[in-house]
Order: sequence, then C-alpha cells, then structure tokens
Amino acid sequence: MSTGFFSIPYPKNEPVLSYASGSKERALLKKALEDARSKVADIPMYIGEQEVRTENKKTLTPPHDHQHILGYFYEGNVSHVEQAVNSALGAKELWANLSWENRASIFLKAADLLAGPYRYVMNAATMLGQSKNVYQAEIDAACELIDFLRFNVHFMSEIYREQPESAPGIWNRLEYRPLEGFTFAVTPFNFTAIGGNLPASMAMMGNTVVWKPSYSQIYSANVFMQILKEAGLPDGVINLIYVDGLIAGNYIFDHKEFAGIHFTGSTSVFQNMWKTIGQNIHKYRSYPRIVGETGGKDFIMVHKSANAKEVSTAISRGAFEYQGQKCSAASRCYIPSNIWEEVKNFLMNDVKSFNIGPTEDFSNFINAVIDEKAFDRIAGYIEKARQNPLNEIIAGGTYDKTKGYFIEPTVIVSKDPSSVTMCEEIFGPVVTIYVYHAENFEQTLELVDNTSPYALTGSIISRDRYAIELATQKLRNSAGNFYINDKCTGAVVGQQPFGGARGSGTNDKAGAKVNLLRWTSLRTIKETFVTPTDYRYPFLDKD
Ligand code: NAD
Repeated sequence: MSTGFFSIPYPKNEPVLSYASGSKERALLKKALEDARSKVADIPMYIGEQEVRTENKKTLTPPHDHQHILGYFYEGNVSHVEQAVNSALGAKELWANLSWENRASIFLKAADLLAGPYRYVMNAATMLGQSKNVYQAEIDAACELIDFLRFNVHFMSEIYREQPESAPGIWNRLEYRPLEGFTFAVTPFNFTAIGGNLPASMAMMGNTVVWKPSYSQIYSANVFMQILKEAGLPDGVINLIYVDGLIAGNYIFDHKEFAGIHFTGSTSVFQNMWKTIGQNIHKYRSYPRIVGETGGKDFIMVHKSANAKEVSTAISRGAFEYQGQKCSAASRCYIPSNIWEEVKNFLMNDVKSFNIGPTEDFSNFINAVIDEKAFDRIAGYIEKARQNPLNEIIAGGTYDKTKGYFIEPTVIVSKDPSSVTMCEEIFGPVVTIYVYHAENFEQTLELVDNTSPYALTGSIISRDRYAIELATQKLRNSAGNFYINDKCTGAVVGQQPFGGARGSGTNDKAGAKVNLLRWTSLRTIKETFVTPTDYRYPFLDKD
C-alpha cells in the first residue's frame, strides 16, 4: 500500500561510450566477445517459472560467420503459445495490483543492470547475433534500451499524475488501469532495444505479456530476459516464446482475452494482423489496442544551397550504417544538378573507404546483413536495378555469402524517379539517387511526397531558410520524423520520439508518453460528498 506520492529520478540519456583504442570499455567488450564466442549458449523459452526446451532445437550463428555456432534455441508450437497465454493471464492479478513504484523499481533496476554489469554481455550478443558494429550495438542494445526503461518509468509517473479538475462538492479521479486480459509483443530483428521495449512498456503499465521476438534476435533477447529476472520481474509477467509468427498470431488473435498488440516489423505482416483482428472483433472482451511501427522508404531531399560534403556524409551514414537495416535508413535521395558532381565525388570516396567484415574487427564500418533470405532479396534488387537501362550502379553492386552475408554498399543513380529501388523498401545497404534539375525544387518536393506509401523518416538539407520552410510544409505528411540538415536516422529516446504514419505505422511514438497511454484503460471516478436526496430541480418549482 503506497503512503506517498513518489517522484521518479529524472531520466538522462545514457552516455554513449567511445570504445576508442586503449579505452577500458574496449578491453571489457573484447573480453565479452571472446567469452561469448567460446561458449555454446543453450536458450530456452521462458513461460511462467518454466524454462521450456523442445525437440525442435535450432542453431544461432553470427550473420558474418554463418558456420560458427553461437548457441541453440528451442522452437515451440501452438501448445507453447497456449501455455504462455495462460501464464500471462495467471500472473495478471498480482502484477496489476502491485503498487506502481514497485513496478517502476524493477525497470529502473533493469536499466542500471544493463548500464553496468550486463553492458558488454549485451553489446557482444548484439554484435555477434545481429552483426552490428561496436558503435551500432552501443547506441541500440545499451543506450537506447536503457533510455527506454528510464524514460518510460518517468512518463508512466507523469501519466499517473494527470488528474481532472473537481467542482465544489465532488472529487474526480482518473485511475489508469492495465488492459483487461493479456497483451502480445511481436518484435523485429534489427533493434535489440525495440525487442526489449515493446514487452517492457506494456508490462510497466501493469499488463502481462506474451513476447515473440524475431528468430534472428533471440540471442540478445535472452540476455534481456536474464536482466529482467535479475531485476526481480515476477514469473509470468513477460513470457518469451519462439514460435512461428503466424502460428502464434492465429492462436492469440482468436482468444477472448487478447487485449492488445505492440508490433514492430514489416508493413505487410502488420496489415495481415490487423485484418485477422478485425475479422475476430466480435470474439474479444474489449477492443484490442493495435500499435504497429512498420516499414519505410526514407528520403534525403537536398536543396541547391546545400553543402556537398554535408550531403555526402548524411548519405554515407544514413544509408549504410547497420547495412541499411534500420527502418529509418535513407534509401532514396534527391540531389540538385548543381552540386551532384561534387556530392558524387565525396560519396564515392566515402564508400571506397568503408571496411567490410566481421564485427569483432572494430575497424569494420560495414558488417553482414541479417540472414540468407535478406541477402538473396537484396542481391535480387541489385540485379534488377542493373538490368534497367535508366539506372547506373556507381558504387558497390557485388555480394558474397561464402563466409557471411556480405553485400557491398551500393549506390544506384536512376534517371527514373519511379524506378523500383526509388519506391520499394529494400532493407539493405542500397541507396538510389535521383538527380533533379536544380531549379525544380518545389516539383521535386511533390515527387518526394508522392513516391512511396510510407511516411517514416526524411531529411531536408539546405542553407536557404525559405527552402527549409517550404520543404517542412510540403513534406508535412511524408515523415513522422523529419530532420533539418541531418541524416534521417538516429532518433534518441526522450529527444526525438520515433514513429511514422501512412504505411509506416500507427505513429504511437515508441519511448514517449503517448505510447504508454495505449497500454492503459482509464477509469473515471466521481465521488459526491453531499449526495442529493430529492430528484426535483429548482426549475420545477411553481412561480
Ligand atoms: P518482419 O515483419 O519480418 O518480422 C517482425 C516480427 O513479426 C518478427 O517477430 C516475425 O517473426 C514476426 N512475423 C513475421 N511474419 C509473421 C506473421 N505472418 N504473423 C505474425 N508475426 C509474424 O520484420 P523484420 O525483418 O524483423 O524487421 C524489418 C522490418 O521492420 C522492416 O520493414 C522495417 O522497416 C521494420 N521496422 C520498423 C521500425 C519502426 O519503428 N517503424 C523499426 C524497426 C523495424
């Protein structure tokens, strides 16, 4: 029972460590990498208090070294989905009734464990399991996940503090209840932080969760589960299962107690989930909350006043960091003819200078793409682009999966602004550039707005303030995260709430107060102090 209005320690973004040569953190991370490589992990599902292993044992390998076995996980079937749902429902009452400061403590402790003793284990897991270089792992698996945990606890307390006015003689209260039933988190491969945040943010608000991560992120998801357990998360609050998405979805979306989905992944998967939920809408106790952040075709729009070096750097980082496998990665660029030659030279020099290889060698800027399916899909896009006479591949265009799934960062220049690689999400290290006549800025803004069904991220690069203002207005609905004079990636929790609209999702901004509001169902309580005892109002009196 709470006997105080408690304040949360004010969150600050977790500082990003440099891992510079000779630094302490570099030595500790190298050691964590060696440890992880020298072991074979055995990763169960976590359902309630059980660690569940099945006959269906699957290997986990680094995308950049697919013959090395990092460990095994155990794939489940529909019976495990059922067990996980029952476990979440069983844990619900105690968890939902636990005072919020106790819930807060668990997640704040998890943040501190990740910032301290687990930092290098988690970064090593993300570097090996998802092929992220040191910096990409540090900003995702350590800093962003720590920020999600700390900022969300802060936002939760702000939400609880928001209370209505009360007229004389009454007291109005808002109670922020967890959703009735259980919730479902389905997470993508590309961010360890998203994997952790989607189930944690729902649990933080008093919900219990079935969490189904991408198979390619299980290695680091397991580390997060260990952290949550050490932080004191009770059994059954988050149940981590490795089951085919369709099988899990078919069971869960048919369940009366299904209360909400927190999804990040591709647009088509999300749209199919929404359809299934719609078809089953009459079966549920409540209208399920549907939150999904999905694909993108993110742009860099450049004005003729821009500095060419700033433009090329935004492309080199925005398009190629983490091999272009960020939902926010720049994949179409519109460059004015007056500065194209200069931008091209800088960009070619950058791309030529990238080292490509395994993450354990810290000098590699580019590592492998996530798996063979992704490798084949991206290579297919490159080959199709090569066949189009209106395209020219000016950098990269080669790939090799002998040891790992390596694709050379590829720059395509297209004379057709509607060519396939200008329009479709590729999710790999491929950027397409359309060079427009420098005087056609406004028409090109319209092209940017109309080219893709997505609206996730985009940038305008310009030194002309009128051009910046025009682009900001014309591209108002083209991106949920809009950048001025910067690359279109790298949103920071608490600073740039992240999410897109149109085909890119419900725009419920992960790591922001608006997102947490989706995981609570408000009850308004009105209490009257002197209760009326006569139904007659004064207007009924005779004159
Ligand atoms: P994905 O859609 O293939 O998988 C996402 C999750 O859905 C995984 O857990 C997967 O197992 C599950 N899944 C797949 N098919 C399913 C089905 N039929 N039913 C139920 N679940 C199913 O996406 P991915 O390859 O892991 O991630 C890349 C995609 O995610 C890209 O489209 C990217 O743009 C998007 N993404 C978006 C954001 C954002 O914030 N907007 C962030 C990260 C990634």
